[in-house]
Amino acid sequence: MSSRCELCCREPVETTVHHLTPKELGGTFMPTADLCIPCHKQIHSLFTNQDIIRLHLTELQALRENERMAPFVRWIRKQPPSTIPRTRKSNHVRRS
Ligand SMILES: [Zn+2]
Ligand SMILES: [Zn+2]
Repeated sequence: MSSRCELCCREPVETTVHHLTPKELGGTFMPTADLCIPCHKQIHSLFTNQDIIRLHLTELQALRENERMAPFVRWIRKQPPSTIPRTRKSNHVRRS
């Protein structure tokens, strides 16, 4: 599926559904965002579900303005939509 990433606003990109409030924490029927794969991976490698709630990152605007996400968003915006940067597994947050 090709559409527009709601975080970096690139298009057309392949998007995946991100639950702004983690499903595990009650977000099943709450708002979702269509995010490109790099943006989506970045969120989950920087933040655990608990972090997302604790840091109030349940809105796109908050994610965009987060001091750890902002530099990534600025960078990814300049990348052509076809670019899928490799995210290293070791960056993944594995504590919860
Ligand atoms: Zn994106
Ligand atoms: Zn997600």
